[in-house]
Amino acid sequence: MRLVLVGPPGAGKGTQAEFVAAHLAVPKISTGDIFRSNVSQGTPLGVEAKRYMDAGELVPDEVTINMVRDRLAEPDAGAGFLLDGFPRTTPQAAALDKLLVDLGTALDLVLELVVDDDEVVRRLSGRRTCRGCGKVWHVEFDAPSQEGRCDRCGAELFQRDDDKPETIATRLREYADKTAPLVDFYGAQSKLVGIDATGPVEDVTVRAIDALRSYSG
Ligand code: ADP
Ligand code: AMP
Repeated sequence: MRLVLVGPPGAGKGTQAEFVAAHLAVPKISTGDIFRSNVSQGTPLGVEAKRYMDAGELVPDEVTINMVRDRLAEPDAGAGFLLDGFPRTTPQAAALDKLLVDLGTALDLVLELVVDDDEVVRRLSGRRTCRGCGKVWHVEFDAPSQEGRCDRCGAELFQRDDDKPETIATRLREYADKTAPLVDFYGAQSKLVGIDATGPVEDVTVRAIDALRSYSG
């Protein structure tokens, strides 16, 4: 299955992507994760992306599309994938459609995680990420048993630079201006399914998997 998760920053895309990708046995491809890994390795791509990420802005389409094209060409993506955080603009969505046509395939479904701005701000401001395994926690909603330590691997947790209040505001504006139009873009293709992304993580996962089930009949 070829699936896209769309929703504002902090909607829970990364959290749900882990469970949904495991359920479907497809790779989870997160453009944010790929950019962050390039930033931490100091690659030319990382150096370029960091300027935009630190400001809460989107990385230019051309850079992002080329990166995704390379990633989708890897063998593990051949039988399906779950994209988390891509596409985020209409040109990216059009480029993805074209890329898939060239590969003789198409997207199956776009799952929109619906959650309001107040909840998104609460989620982003309490988000903590593990330095070791990358698992995402929340200081209030999904707290590890020992503060600042990952329960899964024991490594230290950190707060993302772009989860500071002033950057969060810019990211929400970027979402409203550039990403929200994708709801209409995919709605017009009859590929969009919206789910309520509020409430416990497990409940959202059940709604997501139900939405996939109703799609595949
Ligand atoms: P995104 O990938 O959409 O930016 P994340 O998956 O990183 O969002 O989630 C943002 C924050 O919200 C994380 O700290 C995560 O633990 C928390 N979170 C995710 N889903 C829920 C939920 N259903 N209820 C409460 N907090 C959640
Ligand atoms: P995320 O981890 O999805 O919240 O992404 C973190 C940051 O990476 C974003 O704020 C952007 O700066 C950048 N980024 C991730 N995905 C994209 C994309 N599809 N297009 C442009 N920039 C992106």
